[in-house]
Amino acid sequence: MGNEKTLWEQAVAFHGHECTGLATGFRVAEAAINALQSERDIDEEMVAIVENDSCAIDAIQVITGCTFGKGNLIFHDYGKQAYTFILRKNGKAVRIAPIKRDKEKQKDLTALRKKVFSGKANEEEISLYRKKVKAAIGEMLSMPLDEFCRVEEINCEIPEKARIYNSVICSYCGETVMEPRARILNGKLACIPCLEKHTP
Ligand SMILES: [Zn+2]
Ligand SMILES: [Zn+2]
Repeated sequence: MGNEKTLWEQAVAFHGHECTGLATGFRVAEAAINALQSERDIDEEMVAIVENDSCAIDAIQVITGCTFGKGNLIFHDYGKQAYTFILRKNGKAVRIAPIKRDKEKQKDLTALRKKVFSGKANEEEISLYRKKVKAAIGEMLSMPLDEFCRVEEINCEIPEKARIYNSVICSYCGETVMEPRARILNGKLACIPCLEKHTP
C-alpha cells in the first residue's frame, strides 16, 4: 500500500500522456459506473459503445474494463462525443454525452495546441500550453459529474457476446486468420489483404 496508483494515474500510465481527451473519457467512465451501479468489467458483463476513437477511449478501457481486446468495446466511427454503456445482466443502458462549455477558453487552447503540435511554438508557448492543459484537466476532474456530462437512461439492444472462431491459414502469406474473415481466391484460402493484393 502507499504507492498504489490512483485510477487517474492508471489511466495516464496506460495512455502515455495527460490530456483533456483522457480526462473526458475518465469522467464519462465514472458516470457510467455510477449510473449502472457496476464495477469494473471482468468478463464482458458491461458493454461500451463508443462513437469516436479519441484519447478518451483509453480512459474508458482502463476505468470500465470494457476493452477492444475482450470485444466489449464497440466502435462506431461517427466522430461523436457520445458513449453508451449497457449491462448484460439487466439490460440497463445509459447514453452519456459530455456537455460542451466555455467555448472561448477552448478556442484559446485549440489554437495553442495547433501551434505546439506543428512544431512552430517557442519554449514559452510550450510551457504555457502545458500549464493550460494541466489547469483544464484539473478543472475537468474536479467538477461535479452532472455538470460535466449528461446521462440519459435508454432502451438499447444488448449486443451479442464476442465469439470465438476457428482459425485457418492463408495460403498466400501463411498467416493465421479467423475463419469468417477468410476468403477463397483461385480455390485457396486467402486473408483479406492477400485477396486485395491479388485482385486487380
Ligand atoms: Zn491523449
Ligand atoms: Zn494472407
